[in-house]
Amino acid sequence: MATRPAHTFPFSAIVGQETLKLALLLNAVDPLVGGVLVRGEKGTAKSTAVRALAAVVPDLTVVDGCRFSCDPADPGSWCEECRTRREEGPLPKTTRPARLVDLPVSATEDRLVGTLDLEHALKHGIRRFEPGLFAEANRGILYVDEVNLLDDHLVDTLLDAAAMGVNTVQREGISFAHPARFILVGTMNPEEGDVRPQLLDRFGLCVDITGVRDPQDRVEIVRRRRAFDDDATAYCREWIDAEDELKMRLRHARVRVGSVEIADEMLMAIARMCADLGVDGHRADLTIARAAVASAALEGHTHVTDEDVRRVAPLVLAHRLRKTPFHEESSPERLAQAVSSAFSESGDSEGAGEAQSAGTPGDGDNAPLLLVDSDDGPAPHPFTPAEEPLVASLDRARRTMSGRRQETLSGDSRGRYTRSEPGRASTQGSDVALDATIRAAAPQQTAREGDMAINVRREDVRAKVRTRKVGATIVFCVDGSGSMGADSRMQAAKNAVLELLKDAYQRRDRVGLVSFRGDDAETVLSPTASVELAQLKLRNLPTGGATPLAAGMLRGLELLEIDMRRNADVVPWLVVVTDGRANVGLSGGLGSEDARAMAARLRASKAQAVVLDTGSGPRATSGAREIAVAANAEYVRLTSIDGSVIADTVRQRLGG
Ligand SMILES: [Zn+2]
Repeated sequence: MATRPAHTFPFSAIVGQETLKLALLLNAVDPLVGGVLVRGEKGTAKSTAVRALAAVVPDLTVVDGCRFSCDPADPGSWCEECRTRREEGPLPKTTRPARLVDLPVSATEDRLVGTLDLEHALKHGIRRFEPGLFAEANRGILYVDEVNLLDDHLVDTLLDAAAMGVNTVQREGISFAHPARFILVGTMNPEEGDVRPQLLDRFGLCVDITGVRDPQDRVEIVRRRRAFDDDATAYCREWIDAEDELKMRLRHARVRVGSVEIADEMLMAIARMCADLGVDGHRADLTIARAAVASAALEGHTHVTDEDVRRVAPLVLAHRLRKTPFHEESSPERLAQAVSSAFSESGDSEGAGEAQSAGTPGDGDNAPLLLVDSDDGPAPHPFTPAEEPLVASLDRARRTMSGRRQETLSGDSRGRYTRSEPGRASTQGSDVALDATIRAAAPQQTAREGDMAINVRREDVRAKVRTRKVGATIVFCVDGSGSMGADSRMQAAKNAVLELLKDAYQRRDRVGLVSFRGDDAETVLSPTASVELAQLKLRNLPTGGATPLAAGMLRGLELLEIDMRRNADVVPWLVVVTDGRANVGLSGGLGSEDARAMAARLRASKAQAVVLDTGSGPRATSGAREIAVAANAEYVRLTSIDGSVIADTVRQRLGG
């Protein structure tokens, strides 16, 4: 039974192109590595390799009849239709090969994401979704040839879905979501224009391929190609064992990938090389870790070795290096140097690289890193699709008190639909408020005739007024000084950060943490929405030394200001956690220049501030209270130093 074109050139028979093959296989193990961008001139076998990959991706067990190829074993990712069907009885299963779906450069957004049938919704009150290419590609491969020629907006949509594993379609207040976890492969010829830099670094991996130079290899390529063209069936039969073996290896790697561990030294080495190369943001660090885990799984190991990191790092970093006039030509050398020096600094033993590459972990703590537990439940799906109502109800009224979560009126069709008004939308317009329109038409129905369930006239049409939800950025400034209780304070603040981040995705909040101790403040965690990153950064919290409270608050404020520049609508919050026994820069009060500058700046800033006093002495003489008063911040004496209490205290103030 030929379920795909019978004759695809075997993946195992591709000569050379080791990095390309590795990049493809890593994504086949864990699609959340983020896809591959393959750059190379014409005739470099880019598309041959991609098509060959489809043949070795393990067959899928899918819910029979599901339009989104849901995985029967992963209820957390099921589409709404499967959830409904499951209530009526067990879901039938079937097995089929993984698909390779081509996304043509000319595709429209509707073709890619699918369409919601509004007319059907109006007539019958039932939401009908016509699946697009995302649905077809779920759990398979989505291939975009000439991705550099694709509309930026579509590339953006593509990368979003690839990163989230979910496709969400929203039209007229109706929304529909379904799983869309696919291996994204984009190919391009750099001579025909590049991908915009903003989009470039959102591809997990990038491979630059060149023609094969070795004469013997070239001869072998021609020989194999001719054999395949002469008799594809016979040729594929020759390679069937190698292909089956690779398929089995991938299947095992997929099972293993969730439990592969990565030690702290590895994470440190990764962080060092990224810092060394001046790579912006943390996506590179996370992608290297994820790809290294996939590499270990592919090798059959239970732990990431430095060999894994070395082989994946160039794939993650090559397209993220900032080009400078001095460095442009020598990127590979810079990279190689950063990678090797990251490991040479990694320990006191001279041969650290050798010692660690044997596939055995060191004796240090090798707690599994949460960011790699991609198959552990529905975590990567940030919401449950089934909860969306047919017609978006008016959301609960938002409180707009100062400092609380705010919403701003949105000029375009993005943002959340909060109310409607008559007459602004045309019937063709894209922003019709369907629910309000129906409500307006309903009282007229007895007087109107027609074959539709509801007869709507132009005068009934209501337009949507949308507001865009605005997140808060919350920076904790935590006293890590040697005063009593520094450890428990740090621990509680850390737990509060993690707790606030749990639902940060829906709330669009970002949370950061500054520690102040010794004679300075330290940014432990820049504002982020990522729980994984926070977990990573908050593993070792520094405590001990004196208390430069003012420096800590200033640093926190600076972080908020950076975030406010990025998004003017953000609601900034500074949460200071201290017992107020400041003894550096504050001279026991507000006498120092630092302290006065801090208080003035905080007072003048847009940030809302709360000082959480963890001390137990009299309130009247509390240093924390003094600071709060000077900076015009709210003062709260904590009754217990506990992460949930802190998180709750902050939530109450944010509202929502
Ligand atoms: Zn389904």
